[in-house]
Amino acid sequence: MIVLASSYHYMQLPREVIVGKGAIARIPEVVQRLGLTGSAMIVAGQKSFEVAGKKVQDLLESNSISVSVVRVNTATIKDVTFVEEQIKAEKPSVLFGVGGGSKIDAAKLSSAERGIPYVSVPTTLSHDGIASPLASVKGLGKPYSVMVQAPLAIIADTEVIAMAPWRSVVSGCGDTISKFTAVRDWRLAQADKNEYYGEYAASLALMSARLVMRNAGLIQPGNEEGLRVLLEALISCGVAMSIAGSSRPCSGSEHLFSHALDLIDGGKAMHGEQCGVGAILAAYLHGGNWRRIRSTLREFNAPTSAIGLGVEDEDVVRALEMAASVRPERYTILHKLGLSREGCEKAAKNTGVIG
Ligand SMILES: [Zn+2]
Repeated sequence: MIVLASSYHYMQLPREVIVGKGAIARIPEVVQRLGLTGSAMIVAGQKSFEVAGKKVQDLLESNSISVSVVRVNTATIKDVTFVEEQIKAEKPSVLFGVGGGSKIDAAKLSSAERGIPYVSVPTTLSHDGIASPLASVKGLGKPYSVMVQAPLAIIADTEVIAMAPWRSVVSGCGDTISKFTAVRDWRLAQADKNEYYGEYAASLALMSARLVMRNAGLIQPGNEEGLRVLLEALISCGVAMSIAGSSRPCSGSEHLFSHALDLIDGGKAMHGEQCGVGAILAAYLHGGNWRRIRSTLREFNAPTSAIGLGVEDEDVVRALEMAASVRPERYTILHKLGLSREGCEKAAKNTGVIG
């Protein structure tokens, strides 16, 4: 991890981003351009190795790069330690994280800890972690993501991503739409707490949310162009976080609601689905256009209620009530309002999130 004096603003950005049908086939030229020699390590799950990891391995090996493969199924501190031990033993010059959330998170943190770069090869579009410099790892004592390092390159093959369950795309849309309220919270923190606010990073996150909102008709099963829109929006969100130097442009009260719900029910719904519902609630609390967020989520067939998330009404109210305490230092509308239980219930009822 990189530590700089607080007077500096540090940005770490991806160097190469390749998006499109068959993008994985471009890996050898990317490796060559980046000057990566010696050996590589692939971190993948069983499924992600089958759909993409094996191809990455073959391409690297046919270009004289020796490859070792490490399988992980989750992103716990145990998984990260295991990958770190493999890095120590094999001494690869680069790590490839192939998969959805957990494999990329495990690759991200372990490579940062061992001081080597990692390349993100996403197989799903369920959230913006595929391109962000933050990792969410269980066992770190924090239910939210922490800053680690940005990917050196992102190779996103829409042919591979199209094979993932549609629900993961819906989740990615929810995560992107939730930037509307994340940025509002960030602005609020600047106004009330004089927190650093970066206009450029905020604009980038908002642009991603608008892009997805505008292209709802395109982001439909079987439409490769729609996947590309979402993919580029998620990558822009990752870059926004790199520029901000924190998750601020992409994570506000709606994310705190999602983290609280994870703590309450163990994460029954997907991250982006929960953040989408959180964004409806957060927009309502901000006095914003929560109906527009709700109607956009409906266009994607994303959940907009407790029933849609598969949770009890009571859990939604509890999550909203405890959300601010999940991260007391991240000032949001929830911290400003300090809602009572009744206030939380009223917000959830008025937005139709609970019956
Ligand atoms: Zn998110």
